[in-house]
Amino acid sequence: MLERSLEAGLKHAGVSNLFIEELANAIMRVNYGQSSDAHQFVGSVSLAGAETGLWSLHGGNKKIPHALLNASGASFHNEEVEAIHLNSDGRFSLRFKENDEMPLYDAVILATPVTNDTSMFGFENFPRQFHLPGRFHQTVCTMVQGDVNHETFQFADSSSVIDDIFTTNRTLFFNSLARNYPVDIDDGAEGAPSVWKVFSNEPLSKRELDILFSTINETFVIKWKAYPEYDGTTSTGNFTLHPGLYHINAIEFAASAMEMGIIGARNVALLAASHLGVDVQDRKTQSFHIEL
Ligand SMILES: Cc1cc2nc3c(=O)[nH]c(=O)nc-3n(C[C@H](O)[C@H](O)[C@H](O)COP(=O)(O)OP(=O)(O)OC[C@H]3O[C@@H](n4cnc5c(N)ncnc54)[C@H](O)[C@@H]3O)c2cc1C
Repeated sequence: MLERSLEAGLKHAGVSNLFIEELANAIMRVNYGQSSDAHQFVGSVSLAGAETGLWSLHGGNKKIPHALLNASGASFHNEEVEAIHLNSDGRFSLRFKENDEMPLYDAVILATPVTNDTSMFGFENFPRQFHLPGRFHQTVCTMVQGDVNHETFQFADSSSVIDDIFTTNRTLFFNSLARNYPVDIDDGAEGAPSVWKVFSNEPLSKRELDILFSTINETFVIKWKAYPEYDGTTSTGNFTLHPGLYHINAIEFAASAMEMGIIGARNVALLAASHLGVDVQDRKTQSFHIEL
């Protein structure tokens, strides 16, 4: 599935061109800012994410890692890491940007994308250079509080505008336009604030915003290095960079999604446990196993 495109995979399964062009392609543009040329694995994750009934958390999804951190009992140090240094005894020291201490660790797990265009760490004193392939796709998220320009989309009036507008034209200036509802208000509820999320590959100009919206009260723009560019040129990354040094986000080259991150994290936790000599099958370490 990593070696053929979503389009080829769906055709092989007997899916019609119309479905591929108008649904699979449109969903890829919403979820990954890319097209059905992306490989079939990420394409399948993308299609699965188009199901209804996705959850959201009051207060934001960031509450999940906060809760996991509390439950783990781990110590949290908020430092920017500049470099990872391999010592002669096989352990690692970390060099921080704003702290001269260089603590020693038996194992290090990178839990962030590491490519030339995302975070780049220094790797010092390793026996070989790391080849961390790939680049990340830019997705710009523009949140708008205002009214969609119903004339642009040929709706009769503003009350007829639908909540999700997908696109299939690969050269269009935006990928999708969707209404966002607060977590505690049902989708489609009357009286909900009129807030819209536009995904595009480049920042929207004023002229482009005016094409999409007839009234704009407030905008908020975030530029993300969002997910890998699934252009077929990059092989999947490696979880193990060196014995004791692991990279969870290698899994993003198969598909970038929170669930994939959890699978990557579990793999890396098992690799690190093995490196540290922790037997996760051992009854005495059952609680460790369950936490994994
Ligand atoms: C616009 C957009 C929409 C998305 N939609 C979905 C969706 O609907 N469903 C879904 O499942 N996924 C979605 N994703 C993907 C999802 O957000 C990622 O898969 C997920 O955030 C990856 O989590 P992570 O913890 O691995 O990395 P990140 O969330 O990128 O976290 C990495 C952390 O490492 C920190 N860091 C980086 N470098 C250093 C350093 N040198 N020192 C110290 N700390 C460092 C960063 O500050 C950051 O806090 C979306 C992504 C984007 C951008």
